[in-house]
Amino acid sequence: MQKIVDFIKQTFNTQEFIPLHEPRFIGNEKKYLNDCIDSTFVSSVGKYVATFEKEFARTVGSKYAIATVNGTAALHISLLLADVKKDDEVITQPLTFIATCNAISYIGAKPIFVDVDLDTMGLSPESLKNFLEQNCEIKENQCINQTTGKVVKACVPMHTFGHPCRILEIKDICDIWHIALVEDAAESLGSYYKDKHTGTFGKVGAFSFNGNKIITSGGGGVIVTDDEALAKRAKHITTTAKIPHPYEYVHDEIGYNYRLPNLNAALLVAQLEQLDKFLASKRDLATKYKEFFSSNNINFITEPKDSKSNYWLQAVLLDDLKQRNDFLEFTNKNGVMSRPIWKLMNELEMFKDCQCTDLKNSKYFEERVVNIPSSVIL
Ligand SMILES: *Cc1c(COP(=O)(O)O)cnc(C)c1O
Repeated sequence: MQKIVDFIKQTFNTQEFIPLHEPRFIGNEKKYLNDCIDSTFVSSVGKYVATFEKEFARTVGSKYAIATVNGTAALHISLLLADVKKDDEVITQPLTFIATCNAISYIGAKPIFVDVDLDTMGLSPESLKNFLEQNCEIKENQCINQTTGKVVKACVPMHTFGHPCRILEIKDICDIWHIALVEDAAESLGSYYKDKHTGTFGKVGAFSFNGNKIITSGGGGVIVTDDEALAKRAKHITTTAKIPHPYEYVHDEIGYNYRLPNLNAALLVAQLEQLDKFLASKRDLATKYKEFFSSNNINFITEPKDSKSNYWLQAVLLDDLKQRNDFLEFTNKNGVMSRPIWKLMNELEMFKDCQCTDLKNSKYFEERVVNIPSSVIL
């Protein structure tokens, strides 16, 4: 164990405490922020929001991007765009950050949990297919869960730690079953599946720019889509559903105040300029970790087949719960931050009565996966 701590300290070139993930502001961040402050347009109107949306859409190869205050808000709106309504059901993975399930719950919909794949840690197409075949039928172009009588409206796979899941197979299954595909790509900016950017496979995709994500605006998020009508609707309901007018205040439905402030967008435009550099650094770190851990008989998690991962959060897969706990305790005690993967969503009080498939792979990861320092090294 001491060897691991020494290696990480040497890699990050410091004897001080090493956090899990620190943001890096080494580009035009201060310049754009100052410019934004000087312009006085620090709130929900201003040129940086539009610039960011244009640049982001170009980066991921989608037609439209709509910036939001955070990733949870982006997911919430994405689900609304997918027509998810109160009492509908949404299939997702139990191995995810709470935001995925919170967004589903804000609408009054309920998650259904299917298992993840062992090689991707993302939603398993086999598990999804089995669930649908065993529980659902198509009636009048809707997927009905016969166990509950409810409509299964959407499926939200998540690209865990930036490693792409089998998104094309998932998309095919969703198409057959009349289920909207909404990608939680919060962790996967810069990750590709078969050369197509994650988040762009479904009807809509959501990204996050929280403080620990690969690029950050302090807090922020974005929705991407190729559908012009959905993009317009996203912009409308994230900006209080106000009908555009130079001075009249008229709103045509209950909207949300989810627009990303220009101040945050200024930071984000500068961060996005650095993305390629950040990605190269993370890939380089992954190579170093892989070499070190494999020579020490520890399983370091690498990108799955057919994909290019952003290696947002680096992770090791330990042998069992005891080794996991020992690893967490030793590293955190010795100045190297590490963190276990999330407690499974179906084990949380709020979601413990949700319908589940067999979740043995999710459980396997819950007991073994630990994230290790992953910041961009300067
Ligand atoms: C970060 C994250 C989000 C969004 O989080 P915000 O903090 O609201 O930006 C959503 N889903 C997953 C899986 C995430 O990791």
